[in-house]
Amino acid sequence: MERRPPKTAPWTINDSADLYGIREWGHGYFDVSPKGEVVVNLKDGKKPKPVSLSEIVKGLRERGTQLPVLIRFGDLLRWRIDELNEGFHSAIKEAKYQGLYRGVYPIKVNQQQEVIEEITRYGRKYHYGLEAGSKPELIAALAYMHDPEAYIVCNGYKDEEFIDLALNAQKMGLQVILVLEMPSELALILERSKKMGVRPTLGVRFRLSAESAGYWSGSGGDASVFGLNISQLMGVVDHLRDQGMLDCLRMLHYHQGSQIPNIRAIRQAVTEATRVYCGLVKEGARMGILDLGGGLAISYDGFKGATSASSNYGTKEYCADVIEAITEVTAEAGVPHPDIITESGRAVVAYYSVLVINILDVNRFEPGRGKIELHKDSPQLLHNLAELREEFGKDASKLTRDRVQEIYNDAVYYRDKLRTEFNYGKVGLRERSQGEEMYWSIMTWISGKLESVGHDGSQMERMSTVMTDYYYGNFSVFQSLPDLWAIDQIFPVMPIHRLKEKPTRNAVLSDITCDSDGKIDKFAHGGEICGSLPLHDPDFEKGEDYMLGIFLVGAYQETLGDLHNLLGDTNVVSVSIENGKLKYRREQEGDSVSEVLSYVEYDPKDLATRFRNLAESAVVSKRITATERREIMGAYDAGLRGYTYFET
Ligand SMILES: *Cc1c(COP(=O)(O)O)cnc(C)c1O
Repeated sequence: MERRPPKTAPWTINDSADLYGIREWGHGYFDVSPKGEVVVNLKDGKKPKPVSLSEIVKGLRERGTQLPVLIRFGDLLRWRIDELNEGFHSAIKEAKYQGLYRGVYPIKVNQQQEVIEEITRYGRKYHYGLEAGSKPELIAALAYMHDPEAYIVCNGYKDEEFIDLALNAQKMGLQVILVLEMPSELALILERSKKMGVRPTLGVRFRLSAESAGYWSGSGGDASVFGLNISQLMGVVDHLRDQGMLDCLRMLHYHQGSQIPNIRAIRQAVTEATRVYCGLVKEGARMGILDLGGGLAISYDGFKGATSASSNYGTKEYCADVIEAITEVTAEAGVPHPDIITESGRAVVAYYSVLVINILDVNRFEPGRGKIELHKDSPQLLHNLAELREEFGKDASKLTRDRVQEIYNDAVYYRDKLRTEFNYGKVGLRERSQGEEMYWSIMTWISGKLESVGHDGSQMERMSTVMTDYYYGNFSVFQSLPDLWAIDQIFPVMPIHRLKEKPTRNAVLSDITCDSDGKIDKFAHGGEICGSLPLHDPDFEKGEDYMLGIFLVGAYQETLGDLHNLLGDTNVVSVSIENGKLKYRREQEGDSVSEVLSYVEYDPKDLATRFRNLAESAVVSKRITATERREIMGAYDAGLRGYTYFET
């Protein structure tokens, strides 16, 4: 790592923006305002206007909505729909490509009604369609998608009911494509379509070769679970030919997996799939559509790398490369350009929601604050450590990096020796505690000096910054960020205010479940992945809130969340601006305690009765009075009605 020069200029909002990387992962949607607050750019009319998240939260609080709250921005969703569709349209124009782009949105990535409504309403100008992976998703899709030029792609395992529904929708004029995920589905589809007198529109999902799967085996890897291999594919073609139905085979589909960070892997898959597509055309299938599935990645860490939290390409490049690869292969094979479908989910909805939480408490790491009194007969090691501390009072301008390194080396040596002597019984408990206190106070001092002597990522630097506070945030990782827990995904986290101030603490963020996994201890900031996040010292005494935003949580997080520790859905609100004024819509209260308890089959009435019995026997045995019973029951009932998160 490069050595960063000492910094003496006062802290500015730009330093905060750099530190938290908001201008990298924020993609122009999020930024820091001159007031030191995180702003989201919302479209008021045509021009985006920055709106402060703290202001939004303030308005919510005035209306009685508590934190944590999930805020949705329909503007960002629409912006993404534009970016993807216009990306393909301009790539198509530039390359003089003969086919159309007709994207579909995969419902499973965020099934919220608002999302489906926006995709079908706003996306209509692009004939943007839907992908349904199950019967319930198809049932939702058919209620909203009535554009005869958009596609409804049906993936997933299909029973008779699913197939009939799809065929009936086709009869009514919608473009529904039934994708074969397994060879065995074909017989049932053909049987049902004969019965209903419909010629089905068929797609087939192809399993890409193992070699190309290697690139993303860490992120997706479902290429091996779904789809037909090449000989199964030929089996389908032969069967359709025998039945005189080769004209029904219209589409080739594949899905590489989600969040594919490397554009090279994308190109490789498109190339292979286009070859297969051309082969199917030459076999006599009608074809006309190539569906590239999902996988378009976004950068959660703000880097442009090919790591799983990152992406080494943007939407524009993705579109251009896809078109180029298809053009090359089809030209060689002499096959007309197919229409293109992509099923990008994450890239369309991730930016759309932000979780705002408040910090409830802080467990500060504050060693060596008390005065340590040593005696003549205290162990020599303690006197040695105390001598190192005398350096603290000296003229800091004369301090060199080498001297700091020396102090560090000595402190580590004395501390280790002290521990050994403790194990041999030569040093007492209180003495060891004094020694460790001094050691940590030296580390704290060193970490404060790094700024003036320069950083270089050395062992010393790492040691002196492991001193982290625990910040307790009002949220549940399991409910709101399931992928953080399940697959170690990184999400951008940062304070939404106080960004004119330099953060002075280093923190791990704990949630309010009592699970040891209920924490965030991997953050992308300052250009690397760190175990802690620089944060400000909250001033709880002044009654001030300290609020953090957790960003890019619009994809996959909402419905994967669970009720660990019975913490339920958070409050939710959609925010936009109209004529310069904030507009709150679709406010949904999060789960109440009694709702969450009924999900796990408690009956709230029965709970109250049981608790009342306990209270009544306490009255009988004179532990409490009848009036106290009333108050206690009142509190229990209020608890049942309340929010599952910490209320203020
Ligand atoms: C999950 C899924 C998608 C969405 O993938 P993203 O990486 O979110 O774009 C698309 N197609 C299929 C078949 C899927 O299973």
